[in-house]
Amino acid sequence: RAKETGKGRTVVYSVRESSPPQHDISLEAAMFHAVREGEFLLYYQPIVAARTRQIEGFETLMRWKHPTLGMVPPVRFIPIAETNGLINMLGAWALKAACVQLRQFEDIARRPLYISVNISPRQFRSDRFLDVLDDALAFSGTPGERLVLEITEGTLMVDPVHAEAILGKMAERRARIAIDDFGTGYSSLAYLKRFPISVLKIDRAFIKDLPAAEKDGAICNAVLDLAKHLDLSVVAEGVETEEQLEYVASRGCDYVQGYLTGKPMPAHVAMAALKENLYAELLPDELRAGIL
Ligand code: C2E
Ligand code: MG
Ligand code: MG
Ligand code: MG
Repeated sequence: RAKETGKGRTVVYSVRESSPPQHDISLEAAMFHAVREGEFLLYYQPIVAARTRQIEGFETLMRWKHPTLGMVPPVRFIPIAETNGLINMLGAWALKAACVQLRQFEDIARRPLYISVNISPRQFRSDRFLDVLDDALAFSGTPGERLVLEITEGTLMVDPVHAEAILGKMAERRARIAIDDFGTGYSSLAYLKRFPISVLKIDRAFIKDLPAAEKDGAICNAVLDLAKHLDLSVVAEGVETEEQLEYVASRGCDYVQGYLTGKPMPAHVAMAALKENLYAELLPDELRAGIL
């Protein structure tokens, strides 16, 4: 599916965008109601240092708790919100709420953490995006360097000239840019040189069959190598087993995020996890070795 076909736009195709979920009219109507009723919430998934498993930050993941349908997954509602424009409002809310939440996380951890927030293509292109970003930082008092904005290759490639300008503005605010689902989009590696990117998130697709899948291993190694030479940090997404963690950690991957080290969780559970993490940190090394 062509994302943008206007004059001067690049036509971008990607695996993910080629098969959008069925556009569900009743779900769309329910969404407007859900916004008014406050049915949207944010979950937080720990991003941990691969070697020590210390929590370094959290990714903010949106949830829709529908009274009868239960939890509606983001793969179902984000594409609809992207189409009808609600994503701008929901995304602005998520960014602001996440920045506020970070301060509470840091109070508990007693050290700097960071918060990672997904930015959809439409939000990224919105004229109001920089105002939304400034508002979230000012309102929460969160320094820009504690914020990571996750965008996909597709978001950059739709309009690279515009993207370059916006990324420059984000860099002025010291917010870091992560490329989400790295390796799954249609893009050119040259953009790693052109744009001020700090983090690559290796997509779960390349992690899930490790260590057995040799080709996936080769791709992970190549990404880690590339990142090392370009001075980027890497997060392995979707790490579910000890073997997967060991595989990426032994090849120099800095951070992991996955069910092994923490599922997406409500803020109060994340705060409990930080307390446990703090407890572990304060133990003498010889005792820590046994529990971590
Ligand atoms: P993403 O940004 O790549 O987020 C990672 C997804 O992988 C999340 O799915 C997370 O729950 C899942 N995940 C993490 N660890 C594991 C694991 O070990 N195993 C497996 N099987 N899955 C794991 P989730 O929460 O369903 O979100 C799906 C996608 O929806 C996100 O992918 C992101 O693209 C989008 N999304 C979520 N929240 C937001 C938001 O606030 N704004 C925007 N624009 N997009 C969002
Ligand atoms: Mg993400
Ligand atoms: Mg991702
Ligand atoms: Mg992913």
